[in-house]
Amino acid sequence: MKIAGMLKQEHSDEMETSTCYMCSANCEVHVKTRVAEGSNKKTVTEVALPDCVRGSAMIEHRESDVRLLEPEMRGVDGEWKNATWEDAISTIADRLNEIKEKYGPESVAFMVGYTKEPRPYLQRLSYLFGSPHYITESSCCFGATRVASAITFGDDYGYFYGTSRPYQPETKCRLIWSNDTANSLLPLDKHYFFKETDVPMIVVDPRLTTLAKKADVHLRLRPGTDGALALGIAHVILSEGLEDREFLDNWCHGVAEYKNYVREYTPEKTAEITGIDRELIIKAARLYGGNKPAQLSLSPQATVHHSNACQNHRAIILLAALTGNLDVKGGNKKPGGAQEKDITLHDELLPKLSTPMGNERFPIFIDKYHEGQSMILSDYIESGKIKAIFSIGANVMMYPDYGRLRKQMEKLEFFSVCDFYDTPTREFADVSLPAATHLERESLIIGGDKVRYRPNVIEPRGNTKADADIMFALADKLGLKSNFWGGDIKASFEERLEFSGYKLDDLPKKGEAAPYNNGPFVEKKYEQEGFQTPSGKVEFKSNLLEDHGYDGLPTYKEPYWSPVSTPDIAADYPFILTTGGRSKNYQHSQGRKLEMLRAIEPYPVMQINPEDALKLKVKDDDWLRAWSPRGEIEIRAKVSDIVMPGVVHAPHGWEEAAVNYLIPDQALCDITGFPGFKSSLCNVEKKIS
Ligand code: SF4
Repeated sequence: MKIAGMLKQEHSDEMETSTCYMCSANCEVHVKTRVAEGSNKKTVTEVALPDCVRGSAMIEHRESDVRLLEPEMRGVDGEWKNATWEDAISTIADRLNEIKEKYGPESVAFMVGYTKEPRPYLQRLSYLFGSPHYITESSCCFGATRVASAITFGDDYGYFYGTSRPYQPETKCRLIWSNDTANSLLPLDKHYFFKETDVPMIVVDPRLTTLAKKADVHLRLRPGTDGALALGIAHVILSEGLEDREFLDNWCHGVAEYKNYVREYTPEKTAEITGIDRELIIKAARLYGGNKPAQLSLSPQATVHHSNACQNHRAIILLAALTGNLDVKGGNKKPGGAQEKDITLHDELLPKLSTPMGNERFPIFIDKYHEGQSMILSDYIESGKIKAIFSIGANVMMYPDYGRLRKQMEKLEFFSVCDFYDTPTREFADVSLPAATHLERESLIIGGDKVRYRPNVIEPRGNTKADADIMFALADKLGLKSNFWGGDIKASFEERLEFSGYKLDDLPKKGEAAPYNNGPFVEKKYEQEGFQTPSGKVEFKSNLLEDHGYDGLPTYKEPYWSPVSTPDIAADYPFILTTGGRSKNYQHSQGRKLEMLRAIEPYPVMQINPEDALKLKVKDDDWLRAWSPRGEIEIRAKVSDIVMPGVVHAPHGWEEAAVNYLIPDQALCDITGFPGFKSSLCNVEKKIS
């Protein structure tokens, strides 16, 4: 197997354009397949793809010996037994219908993780079944940044973080907030952030990442104090007259109250809260406020993995409005791009159902994100509200207080999973369905300035099936075929394409993208359209939040557990625990079964500062015990100054050291329900074997 930049076609080779879904970036790739002489067996022989480690494992992903290839059901002895698709899908339909009959349709949840491709179908299936509980991993991933942006700038700014990414020659300064580009963005360490060093670059990150080392100013904050830092930067910008007065006067709501609030976030106070030198805060504010246009670059989720998720993020993104960098070239342009027709039936059916999971605590999240907030799944199972879950590509390790959820999962009356491999989630399942990989499933991919039909380049291996085909089959068994395009997935593609003017037949058959014209970029569209907020302006003080009883201003609160908010807990758990820094080898919990990736990153490590390591007599690869009031893990040590003294970092998604055992599930943002993955407390010691 060769992973190549260019593919050379030989006699019997077939060449196709496709996309990679080893993560959700969906990059274009070129695939060579060959039928072996004397057989009719087609194999994928080569793939040309971006310079990406995890993508390069896609052939192994298809061919892996440990891949699940058959539907399975638990026998009476509790062991897995192979089943036919007919039996497996019929069993799921029968069990879901029995539970619906007994407890009502709202006792069933429909849950999806990765891939994201079939999500609209599962949402539609959930509502047609009668359950409002369509839930996804976005409950702790992108959801809160979108909601915070929509509250602040309006619904059409939900993808504000996406405005971080495009290179713009006009940009005169970059403020990059919690984005470890070398390990996350495309094309990873070839990203333009690393090449274009001619403009000042400010990096906000508690860790000394590769990007932070290249920054003109590295604001190395105590984890979870992002909101205070943003307010402190705003204080300097306002004190020194670097704000965009005209934009604030004409297009912003609540500025006077905001100014009054940030007055208290002096450089001294901000330095005290965040741990950053006051001079650096001033320098960063002058750079960002004094070099226009400036681009604010964010992560889809790092700034919202705190118990004050929404207001943290609002405080940060308001800096773009404060300085007039909104919807201008070189700044943060209004998000745009192709958007498919909504086929979820959300608007038509959800109002007739009971309310989605979490609505009683997080109504704004539910309303703005159009799905349940699943971070309280444990509560829902414990209280008997949820009795069954149909899941696709979900992993229970993603939940805070994972140990508690594991106990609750055992109480479910029925649970089905669909995945490529055995996972900790499968332990709790009654039925297991084997999923087809992206090379084996067709899809419609819509976004930016492209529309693409991606055919499967090879037939599904073994007895696997595409997620969407599974949902169509289940819809049929549940008596919902007529609401599922009569079972014709291509008909569903036609409907999703309606926005574009394309018919499916118009799109290239071999996986190439067709262009979609978003029209020319027009600066400051708000001058014609206003902002889609209650006031029609950028809301420094949010009317929506106030109407729901929250602070309208982007107020700062300490993390749920921190040396400041809970000194009593910190006395016993003296390390600040930050988790989930990205790895270019894996996305979330995926890829751990692939030998190619395991060879590069074989096990998880907890990063610990040399000073702390010295005190604990710990060296690289020693086993550590890390524990919090919620649970404990064992994990090897990596002694590194990437973390500050007093801070430890552990990656997420590792079955052998599931760090979410340590994270409390009560530390949820009161607006979005997001957990404090990146600012918690724990204790650490060298494990004595
Ligand atoms: S970033 Fe890598 S893994 Fe993700 S889609 Fe692109 S090539 Fe595949």
